[in-house]
Amino acid sequence: MPALLVSADPAPLATVPAMPTVDPLGSLLDAFLSLSAEHPELLGFTLGRSGGAGEGGALVRYTWKGPRGGGTGRVKLGLFAGIHGDEPAGGWALLDFAAALLARPELGEGFEFVFYPCCNPTGLVLGTRFNSAGLDLNREFWRGSAQPEVRLLEHELDLQSFDGLIALHADDTSHGLYGYARGRLLAEELLRPALAAASAVLPANHDSVIDGFPAERGLIRDCFCGVLAAPAGQRPQPFDIIFETPALEPLAAQRSAAVLGLQALVATHRRFISYADGL
Ligand SMILES: [Zn+2]
Repeated sequence: MPALLVSADPAPLATVPAMPTVDPLGSLLDAFLSLSAEHPELLGFTLGRSGGAGEGGALVRYTWKGPRGGGTGRVKLGLFAGIHGDEPAGGWALLDFAAALLARPELGEGFEFVFYPCCNPTGLVLGTRFNSAGLDLNREFWRGSAQPEVRLLEHELDLQSFDGLIALHADDTSHGLYGYARGRLLAEELLRPALAAASAVLPANHDSVIDGFPAERGLIRDCFCGVLAAPAGQRPQPFDIIFETPALEPLAAQRSAAVLGLQALVATHRRFISYADGL
């Protein structure tokens, strides 16, 4: 079995900017725009505006297709960050991950990635968990929410019909990394190596209860209602992972940990595909 393709070449990450303290949304969107200008194969699209913050309210997606693998079609992954506005590391981790894929496309062979670097633009501008209407967007999905961010993202989830969903979060009550694995068993098989790889940067949380849920070496199978998820009627249901970094740790470390986690997750998934193709 080949080694995990993580942190193999740190060079691509040197070209992406550091996280800013002023204009957090504008800087993140500009960084994605620059990356896309440099690599036109990274396609940007503005889904709409979340309102309340003028230009700062844009909700965007970026799409990149890896080289075709030997199998049929590509595995389509939706990567979501910034659902809570006070968790900025995730959006920058998606930027680094996209930059690494563009520098070494073979790492994304057989996959299509759809990046949503900031799902709560007004919250990021305000530096709050909630959006500018005062709501936790991660309790609003598939409940008839009127929030523009939720409606835009629900439409996306319907339209894209992802094979897997990965949401990056940060938790200020956790002393270490952990994650939620939901849906198919595949989610657990992917989350474990992701946590292991990321723990090179930050420790994992091995408490028996995390965030009020029973946990096993940083892995939780239960979840809150109303979190960003695939439509209930989608068949087959995608695997669904929420990856949490400890929010009180330095943002740069959270950012690196999330990138390592994503790279390990995709490398593991690629091995599963290669194995299945060889059967
Ligand atoms: Zn969060």
